[in-house]
Amino acid sequence: MARIQRRQLGRRIAWLEVDADDAPVSIWDTIDDALAGLPTPIPAAGWEHARVLAPVTPSKIVCVGLNYHAHAREMGRELPEEPLIFLKPSTALLDPGMSIELPPSSQNVHHEGELAIVISKRCSRVRAEDALNYVAGYTIMNDVTARDIQKREGRYTRAKGFDTFAPLGPTLVTDLDPDAVSIEVRVNGELRQQSSCSDLIFPIPALIAFISEAMTLLPGDVISTGTPSGVGPISDGDTVDVSITSIGRLSNPVSASA
Ligand code: MG
Repeated sequence: MARIQRRQLGRRIAWLEVDADDAPVSIWDTIDDALAGLPTPIPAAGWEHARVLAPVTPSKIVCVGLNYHAHAREMGRELPEEPLIFLKPSTALLDPGMSIELPPSSQNVHHEGELAIVISKRCSRVRAEDALNYVAGYTIMNDVTARDIQKREGRYTRAKGFDTFAPLGPTLVTDLDPDAVSIEVRVNGELRQQSSCSDLIFPIPALIAFISEAMTLLPGDVISTGTPSGVGPISDGDTVDVSITSIGRLSNPVSASA
């Protein structure tokens, strides 16, 4: 299993393999080379403190709603018969450490910590049994949601599509057993969400098959697999940490938009 981060040093952006302590091991100019693990002529020296970016820049972020039994219960919803999917715009993407900006039009913005999949190759109409061949790896997403707007409009596009509402990263791990890991969300250190990632109603191969039957998935596209129970509000000055075993911690401060 490799741990990959996208980092920026000055004006240069590169993909690095990092060790368990996030120290750079190797460096590549493209994510394809990083995933292939090609030998690199470029030493990673100097990149120790480079700014960590979201690991990919997706053409689309496909999210799954109500994919944990306990979250469906807390929202007072029936279990869905098929995955409930929606899109977040690529412009909602936020790098680790950058501020989630609370829009003036919402008074109730929630965190939703989620396990996210990154797609490796262009694909459509993938069969579930082949689906994992199209997964580059796994990372962490916070599906930030303006809950009041979501409830009022009954639609997800605006409520979940604000700029900065898709924090992603910091690390892409190329191999993971989702059934063997757990997710935790803390706000200012206080535990808000905690679940095994094995509580998914629709497992990852079924999600890839269902989504790719409708839309072609491109390299770097993100599928966020849904949030467990315990969603709740975030406020100006908070810090939200989403942690997944074997991946790491995605941390973002929260600020009122200027
Ligand atoms: Mg969600």
